[in-house]
Amino acid sequence: MAQRVPFHLFDVSVRERIELSPSMLRFVFAGPSLAQARSFGPDQRIKIFFPNAAGELSVPRGEDWYARYRDQHEAQRAPMRTYTIRALRPGATELDVDFAAHGDSGPASSWALRARPGDRVLLLAPHASQDDSGGVEWRPPADVREVLLIADETALPAVAGILESLAAQPRPPKVRAYIEVPLRADVVDLVGPGDMRIHWLPRAERRDEPPADYGTRLVEAIRAAQLTPAQADEGGEALAEVDVDREILWEQAAATASGFYAWIAGEAGAVMAIRRHLVGERGFAKSAISFMGYWRKGRVLD
Ligand SMILES: Cc1cc2nc3c(=O)[nH]c(=O)nc-3n(C[C@H](O)[C@H](O)[C@H](O)COP(=O)(O)OP(=O)(O)OC[C@H]3O[C@@H](n4cnc5c(N)ncnc54)[C@H](O)[C@@H]3O)c2cc1C
Repeated sequence: MAQRVPFHLFDVSVRERIELSPSMLRFVFAGPSLAQARSFGPDQRIKIFFPNAAGELSVPRGEDWYARYRDQHEAQRAPMRTYTIRALRPGATELDVDFAAHGDSGPASSWALRARPGDRVLLLAPHASQDDSGGVEWRPPADVREVLLIADETALPAVAGILESLAAQPRPPKVRAYIEVPLRADVVDLVGPGDMRIHWLPRAERRDEPPADYGTRLVEAIRAAQLTPAQADEGGEALAEVDVDREILWEQAAATASGFYAWIAGEAGAVMAIRRHLVGERGFAKSAISFMGYWRKGRVLD
């Protein structure tokens, strides 16, 4: 995650804005350069640059762009945030990104709540001329038979893509997914493999009801889940704590994992609690699980 991959800047504008559910907005971005964009997996991450408070959108170009970007005065700098390619159609020069709208507390969500067709952003994404340039963590072992997916709404776009990719396999694994969303009305139909069970976990039934804290429904559900013994290893593993208020929680499953594979992403405090429970208390092999803090409550990550 910390590694800065040599992505390419794509100048795009909103072609369409689609309300998927009360909290999820899809933006179909379009621009001729997207003919050269590429995605290497269903959780391909990209960076999106939004206009600054003055409505200007300019990002330094060239090899040392990041150092020069960081040197810019904060008011001038275009805010940058991390998102997932939900779909890429290079032929139609279109790329979809699904945004979890969480109000006006951050530039990305605030932009999404107001953006309309024609509005510009810049995408930092892989270029078709590159070999696998990183930014994909969904790397299940070839012989995977059981998949566990745990996500909140920020990782729902990746999970939706992962399930679609599994549905397209000739012998897909069994999948269990736990997905926390803001509201009951955010529960959507997902395309997936035959042996798939999704546990939807709304933080509130309705908007006028006080919501559960971020991540608590997920953590409770995993604690209560009957996860089959095939998924557990011998004994609890000694775990180094990650301070999610200072560091980024980003741990990859080992390439040697086999049979069982888990992909877990969402609010970093919740992912950390699930890591502690699955590995420390239930004895799951850490090497079979990817843990990703997609955002941290009260903290700005770009
Ligand atoms: C690899 C990766 C892929 C991601 N893909 C997606 C994606 O496809 N769709 C998506 O919606 N998000 C995705 N995210 C999460 C997204 O980057 C963060 O939610 C980001 O902080 C949003 O930026 P912002 O400008 O709205 O808020 P920020 O300026 O970053 O934060 C402002 C405040 O809002 C809080 N906050 C941030 N996100 C949320 C939230 N979702 N709910 C409630 N409070 C929040 C922060 O804790 C902070 O207090 C991804 C993150 C990573 C690391």
